[in-house]
Amino acid sequence: MPVPCGTGCGKNAALKRPKTGDALCKECFFWAFETEIHFTITKGELFKRGDSVAVAASGGKDSTVLAHTLKTLNERYDYGLNLMLLSIDEGITGYRDDSLETVKQNRDDYEMPLKILSYKDLYGWTMDEIVAQIGRKNNCTFCGVFRRQALDRGAALLGVKCIATGHNADDIAETVLMNVLRGDIARLKRCTAITTGSEGTIPRVKPLKYTYEKEIVMYAHYKKLVYFSTECVFAPNAYRGHARALLKDLEKIRPTCIMDIIYSGETMSIKEEVTLPSQRICTRCKFVSSQEVCKACVLLEGLNKGLPKLGIGKSSKAKKMLEEYNARQNTLEQVIDDLNDTNIKKKSGKKRNGLTDKCNSKTCCSGNCNSTQNNMEDNSKINSLLDEYSLKETDKPVQQLNDVSDDEEGCSSSCGRLGGLGVGF
Ligand code: SF4
Repeated sequence: MPVPCGTGCGKNAALKRPKTGDALCKECFFWAFETEIHFTITKGELFKRGDSVAVAASGGKDSTVLAHTLKTLNERYDYGLNLMLLSIDEGITGYRDDSLETVKQNRDDYEMPLKILSYKDLYGWTMDEIVAQIGRKNNCTFCGVFRRQALDRGAALLGVKCIATGHNADDIAETVLMNVLRGDIARLKRCTAITTGSEGTIPRVKPLKYTYEKEIVMYAHYKKLVYFSTECVFAPNAYRGHARALLKDLEKIRPTCIMDIIYSGETMSIKEEVTLPSQRICTRCKFVSSQEVCKACVLLEGLNKGLPKLGIGKSSKAKKMLEEYNARQNTLEQVIDDLNDTNIKKKSGKKRNGLTDKCNSKTCCSGNCNSTQNNMEDNSKINSLLDEYSLKETDKPVQQLNDVSDDEEGCSSSCGRLGGLGVGF
């Protein structure tokens, strides 16, 4: 027997809302879904009239629903926003190339300008190339750090007032759980904020902060929105996955647990002395950083120098590794200079230390040094030094890294993982 819509609109219910358990018809569900987001936006004062806003678009369900809903609300409530799409191409074959096609479809459907920035253009590396270099263990650390900065760069290029990301209620509840499980109180203090970003940076806002993931999927399904739902080919089995599984189990028993966890995070009283490092400007790339040199620059330096562990873990460790590397390279350059110097002297027949510098090999030139014997010996010496200092180019895969870092904000991708920036950025 059909159940009437709980709003009393006279239609039959078509669904049961995961968040409230209400039986609603499709139209009343759309209205409730959109109105809640409108309240989140107005209560949180996320936008000002006339703002240009970049919607971080991955082609996944969250960013697609975010773009669609912002367009709808902008027209319905006359926010006066100038909306545009900003996408990052990480260079992941079989995943991002396909999802970017969905973003282009969003651009056409929602009539919003689209800007795509690629890791290859910004950093000289695609994620495919990074994974070939570092293996599959810390790939999301590189990807998340580069994406965060790439979004900042894109937003600066577009001249927007803020970046709207598709973090939903499930993502935020998961992050609260993770920070509790890791004892990361400084991040716990910040992770429920609806607007993030320090002074001088372009803020990020989360209009879907109180929107359940299940309802986002329902909305996209009933609205027949085009989105991409394949998981990233490099998605790891990260610690966050366990927090997500725990949350899903809890939600089955008590659907309000998602809102309850967010509420706990928001209202928790944390000692004032617990703070995150203050933000400043990276001395190299001039983008925001908590260190003298930002994480993206350190990771990039590691990749370019064949030291992929650089930047994984504490910054003091990275500094030490870099100092050791530079010291080794200086030593190596000195040795090569010495060897070159010796060769020049040998070829010119100059005396060294009062002795005539002649080849004393019995097998090649008997002292007339016209052969390459000495050069070969010198080359093998250089090669052994290159080996010793790990400075030689090699086709061998670099060993997998032990240090797993899982960033607060999760993966941007439509993959549904939360390695770096959350589902749909
Ligand atoms: Fe990047 Fe996300 Fe894929 Fe990790 S799972 S490599 S963060 S797109």
